[in-house]
Amino acid sequence: MEIFKEIEPLKAFLRQQKIATRSLGFVPTMGALHQGHLSLIKASRVENALTICSIYVNPAQFNNLSDLAKYPRTLDQDIERLRKTGCDVLFCPDNSEMYSSESQIKFDFGILDKVMEGRYRPGHFSGVALVVSKLFHIVSPDKAYFGQKDFQQFKIIEKLVEELKFDITLRCMPIEREPDGLAMSSRNVRLSAEQRKKAIIFYDSLKETRELLEKGNSMQNVRQVIKNKFENSNEVRLEYLELADVSNLSPQENVSDKINPILLIAGYVGEVRLIDNLLL
Ligand code: AMP
Repeated sequence: MEIFKEIEPLKAFLRQQKIATRSLGFVPTMGALHQGHLSLIKASRVENALTICSIYVNPAQFNNLSDLAKYPRTLDQDIERLRKTGCDVLFCPDNSEMYSSESQIKFDFGILDKVMEGRYRPGHFSGVALVVSKLFHIVSPDKAYFGQKDFQQFKIIEKLVEELKFDITLRCMPIEREPDGLAMSSRNVRLSAEQRKKAIIFYDSLKETRELLEKGNSMQNVRQVIKNKFENSNEVRLEYLELADVSNLSPQENVSDKINPILLIAGYVGEVRLIDNLLL
C-alpha cells in the first residue's frame, strides 16, 4: 500500500494511475478503523481497479473540543488493517496540509442541516462538506463510498455532489453491526464494559419503535415510550428519535405510503455520543 501525507505527491501518483485508465474508488474516514470502514474498502475493491482510503480527523466538523481531543487515533493499527483488506493507497494528511489558512467558507444545506444531527451539532455538516469538498478535489475519484450509519451525512454529500457538479458516483453501504446489534463506531472503544452493554439501547429502541409504528402508534406516543426507556436506565441519554422521509429527511409523525421511511436516533452513553438508524 502506498502511503501519502502530502497532497502534491498524492496527486502526481493518482494522475499516473489514471493514465492507465484505472477506475478509482475513494473511502474517506477519520480512522480508528473497524469492520464498518473495511466493508467500504471491500465494496470499493469490487467495483474499482484502485482503492484509496483517507484518514483525517477533521477539526472543522467537531463542535465539541473534548470530543475532538478524545477521538480515538490508531494509525499504525489502521495501516495494518488497510493492508490486510487490500487497500491500495492511504492519504493521511496533517492539519497544516488540509488547512494552510483558516477557512471562512460556510455551507448551508437548508432543512437538511437544521434537523437531527444539524440541530444538535451546529456547524458540523458545514465542516463535513468543507473537508469532503477538499478531499474530492484532491483525489478526484470515480466513485466514493459512505456508510448508511451516517445517513444524514450521506444526504448532505449527495446534495454537495449534485450542486457543485462533482463527477463522482456515490455509494451508500449498509451498517455493519456487532453481534448484539450495536452499530460499529470508532467511538465504541471509549465505552467501559458496563457502558458497552448499555449502548445496545439505541438499536433496541429503533426496533421497538418500528414495532410500535407497525401497530399504528404515532411518533408522539412512541417517543414517550422510548424516553421512559432511557430515563429508566442510568448513564444513557436520548437526544432525538425521529421518523423521516429518506428523500429529504423531513421529519414525519406517521408512516404512510407517501414516504420512504427511516428512523434515526442519537444520544449519549456516559460522555460518548452515539447515532444509529433503521430503514423501514
Ligand atoms: P468515520 O470514520 O466515522 O468518519 O466514518 C467513515 C465512513 O465509514 C463513513 O462513511 C461512515 O458512515 C462509515 N461507517 C462508519 N461506521 C460504519 C458502520 N458501522 N457500517 C458501515 N459504515 C460505517
